[in-house]
Amino acid sequence: MAELMIGCHLSVSKGFYHMGEEAKSIGGNVFQFFSRNPRGSQKKEWDSKDIEKYNAFAVENNFGPVLAHAPYTLNACGKDEDARQFVYETMADDLERLEAIPGCMYNFHPGSHVSQGSEVGVQYISEVLNRLETGRFKTTVLLETMAGKGSEVGRNFEELRAIIDKVQDNTNLGVCLDTCHVFDGGYDIVNNLDGVLDEFDKIIGLDRLKAIHINDSKNPMGSHKDRHEKIGEGNIGREAFERIINHDKLKHLPFYLETPNELEGYAKEIALLRSLYKG
Ligand code: FE
Ligand code: FE
Ligand code: ZN
Repeated sequence: MAELMIGCHLSVSKGFYHMGEEAKSIGGNVFQFFSRNPRGSQKKEWDSKDIEKYNAFAVENNFGPVLAHAPYTLNACGKDEDARQFVYETMADDLERLEAIPGCMYNFHPGSHVSQGSEVGVQYISEVLNRLETGRFKTTVLLETMAGKGSEVGRNFEELRAIIDKVQDNTNLGVCLDTCHVFDGGYDIVNNLDGVLDEFDKIIGLDRLKAIHINDSKNPMGSHKDRHEKIGEGNIGREAFERIINHDKLKHLPFYLETPNELEGYAKEIALLRSLYKG
């Protein structure tokens, strides 16, 4: 029987080996972390010895992929050219540093087009990805599905497909599906999971789906709000999550919790999801 790959968002402040131990202590075998402070540009240097120690730990403990999350304040499709240049430089620096972690993935929010329209947004985002030449990195770059709050780009599968299509070497480009975001975006993963996954497959291709952010939602389907809730306490509900983690097209993927929790709460959610997993 296969083991569920599940974990949560952790703080990188004490290093990678510490995150590994922390994930293990709450029953996890994957984790996500912010590549740098979400508020700004200030990066903390990573210790290469610590990363080596984590890499050995990951092999020993059969850990799944580490997911680095770019700061959510980066906007690859803002109006200001200098700001877009900064996004490019930040992501390039993150990707260079992540090369030290085998099997790593790097998730980012496509951005907000402000009042420029989603076509301009898609164009700018793909320009950043083309400049990065994502194909030259070992790390897989993931576009996150968004709730469609404000002028967010990536509010539906078509917008993500449009970005991918504009990237010359898109072999290394994937998608991270956030259950709260797609539900808030109007995809009925509660009553029609098969239909939503068929649509994803038709428009983007399921081979691009590399990770799941597993979050319940405080708001109803189609609300475009993006407020995460604990598993089973929101509008998606425990039964839907049982179907999600056991779905033939999803059960092999890594699941990352971003629910409003401390470690203790995450441990409970991981235990709950493991108990529901049929492998
Ligand atoms: Fe995110
Ligand atoms: Fe997310
Ligand atoms: Zn969110």
